[in-house]
Amino acid sequence: MTFLKNQAKKTVSIVAPVYNEHLNIEKFYEEVTAAMADLDYDYEIIFVDDGSRDATPLVLSRLTQRDERVRALIFARNFGHQSALTCGMDHAAGDAVITMDGDLQHPPEMIPDLLQRWREGYDVVQTVRLATDDAGIFKRLTSKLYYTVLNVISPVHIRPGGSDFRLLDKRVLRTFKLFREHDRFIRGLIADIGYRQTTVEFVAPKRYAGESKFSLHKMLSFALDGIMAYSKVPLRISFYTGLLSGLLSILMIVHVLYCDLTGRTTPGWTTTMIVVCLVGGLQLTFLGIIGEYIGRIFEEVKGRPLYWIKAELGHHRDDDAPW
Ligand code: UDP
Ligand code: MG
Repeated sequence: MTFLKNQAKKTVSIVAPVYNEHLNIEKFYEEVTAAMADLDYDYEIIFVDDGSRDATPLVLSRLTQRDERVRALIFARNFGHQSALTCGMDHAAGDAVITMDGDLQHPPEMIPDLLQRWREGYDVVQTVRLATDDAGIFKRLTSKLYYTVLNVISPVHIRPGGSDFRLLDKRVLRTFKLFREHDRFIRGLIADIGYRQTTVEFVAPKRYAGESKFSLHKMLSFALDGIMAYSKVPLRISFYTGLLSGLLSILMIVHVLYCDLTGRTTPGWTTTMIVVCLVGGLQLTFLGIIGEYIGRIFEEVKGRPLYWIKAELGHHRDDDAPW
């Protein structure tokens, strides 16, 4: 590892997943370099290209040739932000790893603060986003609501505003690498991993360039991963609701028998329809919940890799160009 040549200094790996971010990468690189310039660390920057279709691999290739501290791992296709983060962390060789977004919404000027907390003896320095300058009211409200619900129904506590901008000591990283589950929700894994943790707050600025890569669909599926990975409560809800509707149906039977015995039978079409629709709807909903968990078991059983890499750039390994 070239960047480890000076053994006297502590080393830091900075990991950034990028997906169609060709307009942001240079600026990100400059700001990280500026933030690290005055600090007494050796460092590497690991970009993980999550199957970009723009000029991202080209920009990365140029950067790796210009600066030997830059490495790039190019995915064969889009695997999603969490897989890209995992890949970067798998390849990080530093005494600490800092993960951050490549669109400058995780301000590189905060890197010294994270490193300071690390020096104070913390193994996990988690950042908490107080606000995002360009987040709409919808994203803000749903995010807050989501974390509130998640914290109620799962044993893991994640502060609202939790993000994937954090520093991990290499001991934590070593443990994290043992977690190989699919559909991962890294902020939940880290919140539950133990060690000495602390938080640092920040306000996320607007994206430097481009648009958010998280479509509503991606957001929903990420949100579901967080719930399904940590909570069996949805399964339990189905048990309790089943129990409740079972009890209610006993009452219903008593009522029907009473009507029958007292000769007050009515056509009863309305009640029948309501019961059939309600119970049918409930059954389908809970089948869906069970299906979600079974789908996840299916993914795990297949045991496929979390990602696969098409090319590695940097450290003079450019022989394998990705285009
Ligand atoms: N990203 C990724 N794969 C994806 C979507 C996003 O690697 O499938 C990267 C993206 O390039 C960025 C980071 O993850 O560096 C956060 O994404 P984005 O800024 O789009 O999310 P937002 O900040 O809007 O939540
Ligand atoms: Mg962003």
